[in-house]
Amino acid sequence: MNRFEDKVALVTGGGSGIGRATALKFASEGASVVIGNRSEKAGQETVNLIQKAGGKASFFKTDVTQLENVQKLIKYTVDTYGGLHAAFNNAGVDDPQAMTPDQTEATFDRVMNVNVKGVWYSMKCEIEQMLNNGGGAIVNTSSIAGLTGFPGHITYTASKHAVLGLTKTAALEYAKQGIRINAVCPGAIETQMLDDLTGGDHEAREYMTSLHPIGRLGKPEEIANAVVWLCSDEASFILGQGVAVDGGFTAI
Ligand code: NAP
Repeated sequence: MNRFEDKVALVTGGGSGIGRATALKFASEGASVVIGNRSEKAGQETVNLIQKAGGKASFFKTDVTQLENVQKLIKYTVDTYGGLHAAFNNAGVDDPQAMTPDQTEATFDRVMNVNVKGVWYSMKCEIEQMLNNGGGAIVNTSSIAGLTGFPGHITYTASKHAVLGLTKTAALEYAKQGIRINAVCPGAIETQMLDDLTGGDHEAREYMTSLHPIGRLGKPEEIANAVVWLCSDEASFILGQGVAVDGGFTAI
């Protein structure tokens, strides 16, 4: 399928994990893709993978907690490829495990700045551009932690619930102007973030797996498929949703 021929897609946090898989998927469907994250090495590696497969991609070093950085990312995207049709606001960080009284203010601020303010900044700039080029689709990365409580992770859980609030509100604001905005809520996915969470501990991974009725962890490509579909015309009547892609985690 070439659902994104002549379209331009932006992926924040595209240097690894879910973001990289989604950038590769967009490119495989014909999109020109811009990757925005902090590590040039990781972002450039995604670009190389896309180019090796015959696709078009560029990296722009971006910290989504800085509005000026995000404004420059959008300008770079439009200057390089002529527009912006799909955006995946996926950059995110986890919090170290700690009970509520023990979480620090520094962690709260760090997690909220990336996961909430970063998504808001991204949508601010993307919506302005999409109104200029006749509409588009945005997907934000929430989590199963946006739908349920997660003991030991109060700041991450709060941030991912907030992503759904941002998503629904912006979706309603622009519903009639050709911009569809949704979120994905991944279950536990095999990425660096999950390795950091489990500390590579076999028992911790087994426990995470046991929480998913499907009996395994998810793959980044399984989130990428959902994101690219949500951004495609096949999802033309879907907006303001937090779509769980979680092996049944939230069905229990
Ligand atoms: P990952 O490989 O650690 O990816 C996180 C990405 O975010 C990295 O590319 C990182 O790149 C980028 N990032 C972090 N802070 C940033 C900042 N300030 N500005 C720009 N980019 C930043 O982990 P992942 O699992 O793919 O995570 C992707 C998203 O999925 C996150 O929002 C995460 O919360 C969410 N999620 C993950 C899981 C899971 O089980 N893996 C489950 C539910 C939701 P740099 O460090 O180079 O900036």
